[in-house]
Amino acid sequence: MNGAGAAVPGLGNRAKDRAGNGDSDLKPFKTLDDMGDVRGKAVLVREDLNVPMHDGAVTDDTRLRAAMPTVNELSDKGAKVLILAHFGRPKGQPSAELSLSQIVQPLSDVLGRPVRYIDWEGDPAAAVAEMQPGDVAVLENTRFFGGEEKNDPKVVDRFAALGDLYVNDAFSAAHRAHASTEGLAHRLPAFAGRSMERELDALEAALGKPQKPVAAVVGGAKVSTKLDVLNHLVAKVDHLIIGGGMANTFLAARGVDVGKSLCEHDLAETAEKIMDAADAAECTIHLPYDVVVAKEFAANPPSVRTCNVHEVAADEMILDVGPAAVEALADVLKTCRTLVWNGPLGAFEIAPFDAATVALAKTAAALTKEGSLVSVAGGGDTVAALNHAGVAADFSFVSTAGGAFLEWMEGKELPGVKALERD
Ligand code: ADP
Ligand code: MG
Repeated sequence: MNGAGAAVPGLGNRAKDRAGNGDSDLKPFKTLDDMGDVRGKAVLVREDLNVPMHDGAVTDDTRLRAAMPTVNELSDKGAKVLILAHFGRPKGQPSAELSLSQIVQPLSDVLGRPVRYIDWEGDPAAAVAEMQPGDVAVLENTRFFGGEEKNDPKVVDRFAALGDLYVNDAFSAAHRAHASTEGLAHRLPAFAGRSMERELDALEAALGKPQKPVAAVVGGAKVSTKLDVLNHLVAKVDHLIIGGGMANTFLAARGVDVGKSLCEHDLAETAEKIMDAADAAECTIHLPYDVVVAKEFAANPPSVRTCNVHEVAADEMILDVGPAAVEALADVLKTCRTLVWNGPLGAFEIAPFDAATVALAKTAAALTKEGSLVSVAGGGDTVAALNHAGVAADFSFVSTAGGAFLEWMEGKELPGVKALERD
């Protein structure tokens, strides 16, 4: 992925507005640059180490790599780095399967330096006292405390007792007000880590203070899972491109017969309200006017064909946006300066219903490379679709944060981020 920092315009403006001092470099939250001398200090760093594992091996180390910039920078500056993270859902019950001890070696391999392990049993304070400046340790699963997810002050105390300073580097956990993601920020001097900073900068540039015109692509299966996203976006963006199964609900609300397509007919009124709100906000909603349909949901079915949305037969399903619509959408993106994308345009897991998603993703990537578009994307299936298209690295920023990314798309304040804001 490209660096979101310098490449993304419009950053720092929010801080400028608040502080009113014209210092455009001042961010709304404190970062590692604001920490002063950390040599010999114990810094509690909240990371996301919740990596997928199979047969004892980490199958995707993206999150471990995301921890590297902050952990290594603090270690290089002579801090004692104490990593706090959850793993799975132990709900207060310690277990070997959900022990972070199994992440110590994989993390050490990624960081390129030794990593210690500190259990909550025994005397963690003594273990921290033994550490030398620059040493890195992983503390055991924060969720082994039942009070972690309740933001229990007693659990905050347990964590805070071990450190002098707090860094939150886990954007993906910032939509939860837990002891290690929110409570600690009120107890110790708090700062955003480098990955958190990069994510917040990118999101701010995409929807906070974006360069206009702004386009949003919202796709995926159902309107019902993304109502808040749609309602928030119509008030924010100039072009709302709706694809995927949810486009069928909008088409049906407009009187189009969508045949056997995935469609939430009971949400017709909701879809109409969203379209009215878009009109009022001068947001143009783009729905496909040609579509790829088939009689069965299978790879390259014999029944696959492209047709106008008004020609879908009663036994056909819409499974992708059609090529003419994709070309028109590419022209829309060419007029835009900012793009935020969540959800595939079609059932991209199966050929040929990946075509629209791949084509529009390639257009967005090319415009980003040319420097005319800031492109930010997120969502589990969206990340998979962009990887499938081979363009994830060409977007300005691709968020792997999942739930936190969606809540941000809904315009919600994330408690873990809010707690890092400057006074
Ligand atoms: P994300 O995880 O990026 O937020 P979603 O989970 O909302 O995305 O949506 C992804 C799912 O939507 C995929 O499984 C995809 O197959 C499905 N989908 C997209 N278009 C259609 C369609 N026309 N009909 C049925 N399912 C679709
Ligand atoms: Mg999904």
